[in-house]
Amino acid sequence: LVARMQPFGTTIFAEMSALAVRTGSVNLGQGFPDTDGPAGMLDEAAKALHTGANQYPPGPGIPALRVAIAAHQNEFWSLDYDPDGEVLVTAGATEAVTAAILALCEPGDEVVCFEPFYDSYAASIALAGAVRRPVTLRPGADGRFGFDPGDLRAAFGPRTRLVLLNSPHNPTGKVFTRDELRLIAELCVSHGVYAVTDEVYEHLVFDGGEHIPLATLPGMRERTVQISSAGKTFSCTGWKVGWACGPRDLVSAVLRVKQFLTFVNAAPLQPAVAYALSLPRSYYQEFCADHQAKRDQLVGGLTDAGFSVLVPEGTYFVTADTSGLGGTDGVEFCRDLPDRCGVVAVPSQVFYDDVEAGRRLIRFAFCKKPEVLDEAVSRLRRLS
Ligand code: PMP
Ligand code: GLN
Repeated sequence: LVARMQPFGTTIFAEMSALAVRTGSVNLGQGFPDTDGPAGMLDEAAKALHTGANQYPPGPGIPALRVAIAAHQNEFWSLDYDPDGEVLVTAGATEAVTAAILALCEPGDEVVCFEPFYDSYAASIALAGAVRRPVTLRPGADGRFGFDPGDLRAAFGPRTRLVLLNSPHNPTGKVFTRDELRLIAELCVSHGVYAVTDEVYEHLVFDGGEHIPLATLPGMRERTVQISSAGKTFSCTGWKVGWACGPRDLVSAVLRVKQFLTFVNAAPLQPAVAYALSLPRSYYQEFCADHQAKRDQLVGGLTDAGFSVLVPEGTYFVTADTSGLGGTDGVEFCRDLPDRCGVVAVPSQVFYDDVEAGRRLIRFAFCKKPEVLDEAVSRLRRLS
C-alpha cells in the first residue's frame, strides 16, 4: 500500500456495521435508512431495467437527470445551472468530492475543512497529495457547534487551493449560518480559492431553519462545485447516484477526472432519480418533518438514558457526550456498548485530527423506524 494511504484503515462505518451484525445490536452507527424511498421512484427504476436502460449512459449523466437536477437547484435554491455542461452525475457524493479534489489540487496544495469531517474527505485529500487544514468545530454554551473566526482566517494561506464545506454537517448536525457562510465566502474571494460544498443533507434542516448553499453568496457561484446525492433525500443510499454543479470550467475539470474513475454511473437508476427530484414539495416537507420527529424521539431517549445531547439542527445524526455516563473515551465506549446494552454508535473522535476535541463524543443515526429507535432507547436505559 502506498505511503499516502497507510494512515487509513477500514472505514469506521464498515467496522461498526460489522460489529452490529456480529453482536445482534441495534445499529445506530452507519447512517442509512431502514425504509425504501418513494414507491414511484422504485417503479421507475424497475421499468428502466426492463426497457433497455442497461448499457453505458452518457458520461455526464442522462439528459433527463441533468435537467431534473438543474430544475431542483433552481426551485429550491434559485441557482441556475445549464444541464448541458454545468451539471455532472457521479457515483454518489463521495465520487464527486474525490473527483473535485483530484481535479483542482496539485500535490502540496492545502484544503481548508471543518473538523470533525466526513471520513472520505481526509482520504480524498491524501489521494491528491494535498494537505488538510482543519478548523475545529466545538460545542458552545448554547449547545451549538461553532468555530473561532480567527482559526478560520489563520487556516488560509498562500498554498490554500480550496475550502471543503459540508452543511448541514455530518457528524455534528450543525447547519452553517449566513454569517458563518459570509466569512467563508469573503475568505474564498479574497484568497482566490475554490469551494467544494457537500450538501447531501440539504433537505434535512429542522425547526424551520434554512439551508443556505455557499454558492448563493456573492462571488461564490463562479468558484464553487456544489455537490449532493439522491442517497439521503430519497432514502436510497445503496444506489450511489450523486451530482456536482458549478461553472462550466470547474465541472468539465471534475468530469475529466470522473471519466477515469468510474466512466459513467448506473443507467437504470438515473431516470428513477430524475423522477424523484421532480416530486412535489410536499414530499420534501414530509421527509423533513418525519426526521424531525425521529430526532426528537432519539434526543429525548438519549437524555433520559443519561447522555448530554447536542441537539442537531439538521442531518440525521445526533451527537452525545458520554461524560455523564462515565465515558472518558468514545472509542472504548462504542466498543463496549454492544456488550453493555446491544446498541451500536460511532465514536466522533475518528472524524477529528485534534482527537482531544472529540474524545468523549459519540454519534447516533436516527434515520430509523420509530419502533427501532424505541428499542434502542430502552436498551440504552440499561446504562445508567
Ligand atoms: N457526504 C456526507 C457528509 C455524508 O454523510 C455521506 C454519507 N452518505 C456522503 C457524503 C456520501 O454520499 P454518497 O453515498 O452519495 O456517496
Ligand atoms: N454517510 C454515512 C454515515 O456517515 C455512511 C456512509 C458510509 O458508510 N460510507 O454514517
